[in-house]
Amino acid sequence: MPPRIEKEQCTGCGTCVDYCPEDVLRMENGAVVLKYPDECWQCGVCRLECPTGAIEMVFTLDNTLLVSE
Ligand code: SF4
Ligand code: SF4
Repeated sequence: MPPRIEKEQCTGCGTCVDYCPEDVLRMENGAVVLKYPDECWQCGVCRLECPTGAIEMVFTLDNTLLVSE
């Protein structure tokens, strides 16, 4: 699943957009939006780099197995 942005915690800094290796996130009118969620491959970089902890992700079982192997 693509990330979920908690709007109350998001300051609109744009860091997640800068770090995303795909074309998933965009800034529009000062707010981050999931522009192309189907392109997210759940790398988690946006969540790690967000300075306010505004990004939540639910990792699928398949990805969890890949990380633990
Ligand atoms: S990095 Fe976090 S605070 Fe900054 S725009 Fe993205 S979600 Fe919002
Ligand atoms: S998890 Fe990775 S690919 Fe998906 S939106 Fe975040 S940085 Fe982009």
